[in-house]
Amino acid sequence: MFFTGTRSRTEVDSAVAIAQGLTADGGLFVPQNFPEFSAEEFSAMVDMDYCGRAAAVLGKYLTDYTAGEIEYCVQGAYQGTFDNNSPAPLADIGDNRRMLELWHGPTCAFKDLALQLLPYLLTTALKKNGTGREAVILVATSGDTGKAALAGFADVKDTRIVVFYPRDGVSDMQKLQMTTQKGKNVSVCAIAGNFDDAQNGVKAIFTDAEMKQFLLDNNMAFSSANSINFGRLVPQIVYYVSAYCDLVKDGSLKAGEKFNVVVPTGNFGNILAAVYAKQMGVPIKKFICASNRNNVLTDFIRTGIYDRNRQFHTTESPSMDILISSNLERMLYLLCDGDCEKVAGMMAELKNSGRYAIDDGMLKKLQQEFYGGCCDDATGRAAIAKIFKTRNYLCDTHTAVALAVGENYRRESGDGTLQVIASTASAYKFAPAVLRALTDQELPADDFAKLQLLAGLTGTEIPAPLANLKGDAVLHKECVAKEEMAEFIRRNLA
Ligand SMILES: *Cc1c(COP(=O)(O)O)cnc(C)c1O
Repeated sequence: MFFTGTRSRTEVDSAVAIAQGLTADGGLFVPQNFPEFSAEEFSAMVDMDYCGRAAAVLGKYLTDYTAGEIEYCVQGAYQGTFDNNSPAPLADIGDNRRMLELWHGPTCAFKDLALQLLPYLLTTALKKNGTGREAVILVATSGDTGKAALAGFADVKDTRIVVFYPRDGVSDMQKLQMTTQKGKNVSVCAIAGNFDDAQNGVKAIFTDAEMKQFLLDNNMAFSSANSINFGRLVPQIVYYVSAYCDLVKDGSLKAGEKFNVVVPTGNFGNILAAVYAKQMGVPIKKFICASNRNNVLTDFIRTGIYDRNRQFHTTESPSMDILISSNLERMLYLLCDGDCEKVAGMMAELKNSGRYAIDDGMLKKLQQEFYGGCCDDATGRAAIAKIFKTRNYLCDTHTAVALAVGENYRRESGDGTLQVIASTASAYKFAPAVLRALTDQELPADDFAKLQLLAGLTGTEIPAPLANLKGDAVLHKECVAKEEMAEFIRRNLA
């Protein structure tokens, strides 16, 4: 199995794709073709635990890793790190819907599923590639990736990690999670800008010749923990495969029976992993792409025109406050059957004018499989209140967007197919907004008192990783302009 680029052809194995993160021309690595599971392989996976299923999926893509290496990576990532050793359980919320709960890991958001594994995949890749260089993981975060990457990479040998987050674009709990991070190899910095500024800055630093030389001189090389790295994507394919296996196991689906997925979307990584799962044989009918007020993807799916020239909104689902969805590039590559000149052209247009259009053939293919919808904060809050009132189920503000858009899809289409809704974060990470949805009561000023209130109101427990932050010292206080990101890196790596 080899990987090629979205913007020009290349041929590398998975260890190189994972270690490099991006292709030399700034494109993304994609598999040359998709491995598929046979019916027999699926039925064998139905009886496996999560680690077994993860090893099966990884084995299809990381053919340059030995079975022993894959086993080592998977066990290290998923044994003893998630509640009940169950990284992706399903919860029945009625009306033929299941929540795929992806927030039982060390930082309480779905990014843990990938970022607990990535350090193992990366350090194994570095050993295989044998350059002896230290890996510098650069991260731009809308909140959850940053902490999950820090938790995964802190004090991992032969790695450094540098995280940039938008100063005013993350929740208080997310900020506290990042600024209290311990570890000798970690740097965390706020930027005076939004997530797109952080992401663009990181991408520019990646391809900057001077920075590359600076790293080489220090026997280092950049890598990425953002979902532009294929090593982030492959662990996300696993939980869609696993959800399907669980649904077959408990009799909710017959083998081969189709279901729909609903995904609260920002950078398009999570929903793309579902698309890749379908390519491997998971019977998914519709991909329901749910956005908040930053609804650039809803418009794209409806019109075929991607246009980031619009007002940026700060919402109660900050991890989806994104106008440039990086992983859409991989979707474009699929839609035009791997025509990389075409993808390169569209990405150049996006860079130059902030806008591109896909042709009718691509749009038709997209619309056959995708439904795009969006909702505002008030609608999200109503969804939180309703599901708590009717089902006693607590969900966060991102998952609420998916819940609401999933309902709209049903109403508009009449399609009652079983919905698997990606539940991407614990409600406790976004307690103020969730509380506002559930009560008119005045909220206490203290962050931890808010968590207590939410626990009291809902009869649920505060996740230990958040409760344990209380009293931790804030270690990272710096904030830089977006033009100063490269300088921050030089200063902190030297
Ligand atoms: C990152 C994130 C998303 C968006 O996922 P993408 O893969 O970027 O589309 C949604 N919800 C939460 C809680 C997140 O952390």
